[in-house]
Amino acid sequence: MSISGSLQGVERRGLMFVLSSPSGAGKSTLARMLIERMPALSMSVSVTTRRMRPGEVDGADYHFIDKATFDAMVANGELLEHASVFDHHYGTPRKPVETALAGGQDVLFDIDWQGTQQLRETARGDVVSVFILPPSAADLERRLHTRAQDSAEVIRGRMNRASHELSHWAEYDYVVTNNQLDSAYSEVEFILKAERLRRERQTGLSAFVRELQKQLEP
Ligand code: 5GP
Repeated sequence: MSISGSLQGVERRGLMFVLSSPSGAGKSTLARMLIERMPALSMSVSVTTRRMRPGEVDGADYHFIDKATFDAMVANGELLEHASVFDHHYGTPRKPVETALAGGQDVLFDIDWQGTQQLRETARGDVVSVFILPPSAADLERRLHTRAQDSAEVIRGRMNRASHELSHWAEYDYVVTNNQLDSAYSEVEFILKAERLRRERQTGLSAFVRELQKQLEP
């Protein structure tokens, strides 16, 4: 996906910024903060077959769809990646991502390790992935309870899954431990800012530097 846009005057390629973690590690909060604070970044809104939780908004948190619609989207190639998590199906609609990248925007993904692997296979150079670790198992459990959106049984299931999800940490470019929200946020923001400055992403640099040289010559 070779996409260029404009940031601070120099054309650059959009990037796909992926955050993954076991549920309860604070990833959604970090994602929300990034969207609020970082320019030129939009959130990829996934489709899911799971039921809406209290407080969730259809079209903002997810597009809530049924299994038949999901299967049709898979069959029509409308999903950039898709996976089953906790017996439900999740996927990333292709169109909004391609539109955002084409407009020079970066896209933020809150997806699991299976989806991250698929994105890496299709757009390796454009994917920057960050794994968020909880500071401890007790902290993860506390957050799952505080969230209070799921039943005790669902929470137990999520704790069991967490260990499996953690085993994928080494497949990620960066790992951030969410000890303290503000410092974890700063670290994630640093990563995005640094990745935006990678030479190969700043596709307009040669022209810019050529122009600088022209002006500097006598
Ligand atoms: P939840 O049901 O708690 O919102 O999300 C459960 C898990 O599914 C989380 O780890 C989340 O990152 C992952 N997930 C959400 N959307 C997608 C998606 O579109 N693709 C993939 N592969 N995982 C997703």
